[in-house]
Amino acid sequence: MEKNSPDRYKIRIGRFLDRRVELEFRAYELDTSMKSLGIVLPLFGLGFLAFSIPDYLVFGWGLAAAPLFFARVVFFLLAVAAPGLMRSMHTVAKRETVLGLVTTAAIAAFAWAVLSYRDQDIYLQAMSVLLMISAQYLIPNRLSFSIGMSLILVAVGLFGFGSRSEPIPAASESAMTVDFVLMALISSLISLRTCRSRRREYAKAIELEHISKTDQLTGLGNRRFLEERYRDAQARMSRYGESYALILMDLDHFKSLNDEFGHEAGDNALRETARRFNAALRTEDSLSRWGGEEFIALISFATADAALESAKRLRSSLVTMPMQLVGAVRASFGVTLLRLGESLEDTVARADIALYRAKDSGRDKAMLEL
Ligand code: GH3
Ligand code: MG
Ligand code: MG
Repeated sequence: MEKNSPDRYKIRIGRFLDRRVELEFRAYELDTSMKSLGIVLPLFGLGFLAFSIPDYLVFGWGLAAAPLFFARVVFFLLAVAAPGLMRSMHTVAKRETVLGLVTTAAIAAFAWAVLSYRDQDIYLQAMSVLLMISAQYLIPNRLSFSIGMSLILVAVGLFGFGSRSEPIPAASESAMTVDFVLMALISSLISLRTCRSRRREYAKAIELEHISKTDQLTGLGNRRFLEERYRDAQARMSRYGESYALILMDLDHFKSLNDEFGHEAGDNALRETARRFNAALRTEDSLSRWGGEEFIALISFATADAALESAKRLRSSLVTMPMQLVGAVRASFGVTLLRLGESLEDTVARADIALYRAKDSGRDKAMLEL
């Protein structure tokens, strides 16, 4: 079973240090947040469109308001279309690009609005800049992007003030600059906290998932792990015509080993057996503890001959070197090939017939049942 070291899940500045983990997390987040984004984004668009009401109150139906209204409608349509567009894309990068484009469009439309309002009430302008800075942090997992956007919004706000036909007092402008920057800072800190806690929860969930599929004594996969691998194997058999073998292994006379050396020594022998079996298999094969002193290996791309060859390697990993304290440990092997569409239980039952034959004919050997 693959290692799950805690280092993989280190978080720095609201991101996983490990790039692969970060991408897996973002893919997972986008998948789970697609539903809420399907509501949040159109609402975002609707909110922006609703500002046509103050536009109307300030500008009336004049020509001055027409381009602004047009920009609001375009953004609204974009925000409504974006969730569907994202759903049709399958990579995180593409989906995030769409999100980035929507945010950029929002800010472009907003910049337009700020310019249109440049000679209106400054409090109205300042408030809308503050609102916009905080609103764009609603889109999850884009901390560095959001910080960049905040800086642009601060610049847009200041440009709006600077381009008024009647300039505002320098002190007011400085005070507002400080307010904008503080808003960006506070929103960034809140966003940072959210980024961190979401990632912590994710790491915890992955850890629990990992524990639930791991055998605590040997660190191998357990039955649940095998069931999952078995399902994958069946899927690959039907999709790509790959072939798989299953090897059921049972240590020989393990009860006497326990009786002679004690349970603790038996446990150590099981751990050492797991280690040796693991080393004898290829990375594309998977090993799990089926229960007690029984293990199962799922061998990929296997013919009957190749599977018997693997069983031979597994056997020699035990017999070539005695273990500390308990001496030579031996095992019997039941080998079979997976049939398309059958259940794990049925495959194991067939391997068990082969195993029984191996035990019956003197142990310490592999038998095949097709
Ligand atoms: P055979 O060659 O027929 O397989 O003989 P066996 O003694 O191995 O068979 P049996 O199934 O009768 O005994 C299995 C033994 O494995 C019984 C149990 O004490 C031991 N065992 C199962 N799980 C553990 C474990 O987690 N730790 C230890 N130390 N022993 C275990
Ligand atoms: Mg047994
Ligand atoms: Mg046994």
